[in-house]
Amino acid sequence: MSNKLNPSMSLAKPDSQALSKTQKIGVAIGIIGLFIMILAFFNVDFPNKTVFLSLSLGMITLGTIIFSNNAYLTKEAGIQNDGVWFKSIASRGFWGWILGIVLTLFYIVLYFKAEWLGLAAKGEANSGLVALFDPLSRLLNGGPASQWFVYGTLYTAAILVFGYKFMLKYRHNKYEQLRTVSVMFFQLAFAFLIPEFMARLNSETFSLPYYDLKNIWPLNYYNFDKYRVDSMIEAGDIGLAFLIFGIVSIFVITPILTYKYGKRWYCSWVCGCGGLAETAGDPFRHLSDKTQVAWKIERWVVHSVVVFVTLMTTAVIYSYLGNDSSKYWLTKDVFLLSVATLLTVVFALVMIFKRKELAKDAQYGAIGYFVIIMVIIGMHYFSGTKHVFLFNTYFLQSSYGFLIGAIFSGVIGVGFYPIFGNRVWCRFGCPMAAVLGFQQRLFSRFRITTNGGQCISCGNCSTYCEMGIDVRAYAQKGENIVRSSCVGCGICAAVCPRGVLKLENDSLKGRINSNDILLGNDVDLMDLVNQK
Ligand code: SF4
Ligand code: SF4
Repeated sequence: MSNKLNPSMSLAKPDSQALSKTQKIGVAIGIIGLFIMILAFFNVDFPNKTVFLSLSLGMITLGTIIFSNNAYLTKEAGIQNDGVWFKSIASRGFWGWILGIVLTLFYIVLYFKAEWLGLAAKGEANSGLVALFDPLSRLLNGGPASQWFVYGTLYTAAILVFGYKFMLKYRHNKYEQLRTVSVMFFQLAFAFLIPEFMARLNSETFSLPYYDLKNIWPLNYYNFDKYRVDSMIEAGDIGLAFLIFGIVSIFVITPILTYKYGKRWYCSWVCGCGGLAETAGDPFRHLSDKTQVAWKIERWVVHSVVVFVTLMTTAVIYSYLGNDSSKYWLTKDVFLLSVATLLTVVFALVMIFKRKELAKDAQYGAIGYFVIIMVIIGMHYFSGTKHVFLFNTYFLQSSYGFLIGAIFSGVIGVGFYPIFGNRVWCRFGCPMAAVLGFQQRLFSRFRITTNGGQCISCGNCSTYCEMGIDVRAYAQKGENIVRSSCVGCGICAAVCPRGVLKLENDSLKGRINSNDILLGNDVDLMDLVNQK
């Protein structure tokens, strides 16, 4: 335990946030590990790829462990954000921009120029960085690596090593520890190992598409594409089970878990995007935009994405269904009618029972619903077999895949961590987060309760809320936080020095209490507590 006193009293320019000698050693080891990959990228042909890949991943892991142990285990457990605005990498300084540019370039190459990474044309041998991962790929799935295998491995490694760092940083908080173990497990098992082992089962006569079971529609917007549905049906019982699981997870598992625990069960405990944001992205969480304008943009953009993804999926399924009900009961018209009916029922129930709680959100819901229904009616009258209006359905989907799947979730979502914070994608672009958020706001037992009398208005909670929620404003009023965008990461509670905030699941009654303004030792506060 270090007892060194900090002699500086300056608020504007405290002591430099220089790394300790041990931390420098950790960084150097990690960089050497990374350098092996950079050499491979520039086509250095390593003689024994298994050894060099192990060396590279091993050194990155070792470097992070040495760094984290020295950074956190030498101090008392507790809030560890000292000097965060004075570190160049974490405050949009020079190193922050360099990291942002490097990550962005990596994503651009990954999505659009995979051959630069060494991906070979069919039948030829890989080279460069992709070839470095060939041995691991052969071990897991039996075939050579692709750019997605390289990405999946690096992604998983990042969640694991930075997950370790995160667990040390928040070791005073059990909730943070548990959910980090959870995202590490789901990424390693569900997103990485199981799909790779599944690929090993594929043969000439049996083929299952790549399926990360925790990726639920609308996040995996391609799940009901014709080629996937066909191959799942052709794969027999196991394929059918996957297809049914995909549908059940949308209509049964997700609503039940979101009702019981809020959207955190997915966004902060299971999802891979959330997993990376919470672990590797943790040092950038304070960079999220807290302004009202950002909140407004968030609501428009994320709900527009949901409308688009709903329409696109409807159009894709519509395009491959038939018209003859004697061959198969699910025809184009039956399908459209079912989608329209389902949406109408949801919309009507919300309007009847939750109108008061909706306030402004009702407008977004109403506009979104209206647009979808109009397009569905239009589809019925004006679309051909492969086209919806004038657009080819797969053109719609590839545009979505390019704009939202690649540019937004990858290039901007991760590449811009050091500039806009770690949850840009989850906040502004993820359709799954929007759907879960809609339910969280209206029909969930989850809320963050605030013990307003204890709040000293330090602003730690708002600063470190990665979703840009002004938590302090709620805490000062003693108001429950019931926001669609809250991913239940619990960091606001973990960094509050006064124990004001608590993540809870309780009854729906009195959950949204925006009219109660409770200050200090207000006697009404006791009345309210006793009423509960
Ligand atoms: S309000 Fe708290 S729990 Fe919700 S996203 Fe922000 S920091 Fe996380
Ligand atoms: S709730 Fe806690 S962290 Fe937030 S302003 Fe109040 S005392 Fe500070």
